[in-house]
Amino acid sequence: MSSQAPIAQNIQQIKSQLPATCKLIVVSKYREVAEIQTAYASGQRMFAENRVQALLERKEALPTDIEWHLIGHLQTNKVKYIAPFIAMIHSVDSFKLLQEINKEAAKNNRIIPCLLQLHIAQEETKFGLGVDELDAFFTEFGSVDLPNIALHGLMTMASNTDDKEVIHTEFALAQSLFQDIKAKHFADDARFCELSIGMSSDYDIAIAHGSTLIRVGSAVFA
Ligand SMILES: *Cc1c(COP(=O)(O)O)cnc(C)c1O
Repeated sequence: MSSQAPIAQNIQQIKSQLPATCKLIVVSKYREVAEIQTAYASGQRMFAENRVQALLERKEALPTDIEWHLIGHLQTNKVKYIAPFIAMIHSVDSFKLLQEINKEAAKNNRIIPCLLQLHIAQEETKFGLGVDELDAFFTEFGSVDLPNIALHGLMTMASNTDDKEVIHTEFALAQSLFQDIKAKHFADDARFCELSIGMSSDYDIAIAHGSTLIRVGSAVFA
């Protein structure tokens, strides 16, 4: 068995690289509860899971002051399970899903912070709204009042590649889309301020392109 000290050290090491405008979310998917507890004991409070079932199980097993983020694809029929407590949903990829989140948030008397997930990577398999779908999304968004959700920004993943230039180009696109959307649709809404980009292999590049939330798993638990 390996010592758990490296988890706390890894978190400190990653945090020491972050500008004041950027926060670390530890991605705890596939990890043992004991490993998450070690990260918690070191002071970490923001954690992310990619599946609803795993998220619910871990929430039950861990302290109540953890801020849970959902970063994986969310089916509309599962929104109700997380609506009472979820801190932020990073993976909103349709207007229909946003409407469902609004409905369940209303039942819980909450406003749920959401990020729009964009698909800019080369892989076919990744979820998210295409750049060409943004106009249609915001036309619908602008036509309906959704008082129980708040769009706080964008989330995206870069292509899974060793080519740093490709990652730079993709995160630069994410940053410019974030700024365009903010200027066009949220000029009067200060809540739209989060750019969730950067994982273990590319968070340094994401920080250079204005990331405010990095989502790091393997570099913490390795
Ligand atoms: C798994 C995952 C991460 C973390 O990936 P690591 O490479 O382990 O840091 C970040 N974001 C999303 C959406 C993920 O699914």
